[in-house]
Amino acid sequence: MAHIIDGKKIAAEARADIARRVGEFEEKTGIKPGLAVVIVGEDPASQVYVRNKEKACIEAGFYSEVHRMSAETTMDELLSKLDEIKNNDKIHGILVQLPLPKHLDEKAVIEAIPPEKDVDAFHAVNTGKIMIGDYSFLPCTPAGVMKMLEYENIDVTGKECVVVGRSNIVGKPMAMLLLHANGTVTICHSRTKDLAEVTRRADILVVAIGKANFITADMVKECAVVIDVGMNRNAEGKLCGDVDFAAVSEKASAITPVPGGVGVMTITMLLENALRAAEMAAKK
Ligand code: NDP
Repeated sequence: MAHIIDGKKIAAEARADIARRVGEFEEKTGIKPGLAVVIVGEDPASQVYVRNKEKACIEAGFYSEVHRMSAETTMDELLSKLDEIKNNDKIHGILVQLPLPKHLDEKAVIEAIPPEKDVDAFHAVNTGKIMIGDYSFLPCTPAGVMKMLEYENIDVTGKECVVVGRSNIVGKPMAMLLLHANGTVTICHSRTKDLAEVTRRADILVVAIGKANFITADMVKECAVVIDVGMNRNAEGKLCGDVDFAAVSEKASAITPVPGGVGVMTITMLLENALRAAEMAAKK
């Protein structure tokens, strides 16, 4: 039976450390680090994520603003809202909750956030920096995964690392961080031929595809470390990952659960980035 990597415990320790640093920063500079979150529309999952982010922010001692905009918001209205937030001295980090309603240009919105306030690290400047190993901001979900591996003393050096999924927000930056940690990295996607043959090679398997229970035990090597980034609803409406947890946990050496795994780490790394944004602003 695999060791269950407890995201909640790791996140709680990391958040306590961030809260301590936020307090020290405020004492030293008189500045409270501030994060603004913009949410457009009523997507229920996004509403939950934003509430969790706001709660985590306040608990860690940040100043927090949430701007809720209607699903009919135009591009001009959203950009002028971002302008207003950009010019607010209390705000050091800005995040626009994705996905946006279809009529809005996601890429243009991301590019409208100044890179030094882009706490999601989605701006082209920050994704470029990640590529060269300059982590002004950490890509939240992949950085959360790396923090879990580090906490569990799982050394990536020389390991066969397989990332399933190649999105700009998870798969690609995940592969970069594993590569920078000296893993031998393979990225798989929907066109990969014989996926199971590739995933079975993995010492460390990271799955981010968005398909409930897609990775079955026969796709996993004995004693592999399995990190499940997926967040899906199963047929009964229950939250579940991309990995068939019950069967794979019989074979893996360590595995992350859903919920209670990568998700809580993602928000933790967002707090880390928001504090970094305030520290960078104070240095200027
Ligand atoms: P995307 O939909 O942007 O990307 C999914 C990726 O999976 C694509 O690269 C796609 O390949 C690949 N894929 C889809 N089907 C298959 C298949 N059958 N075999 C192999 N590869 C496949 O999703 P995201 O990266 O944004 O998110 C992935 C999952 O992670 C979702 O469940 C999401 O909810 C969750 N998530 C969780 C977070 C957390 O904090 N825990 C944060 C962000 C996301 P192709 O490129 O060829 O289409």
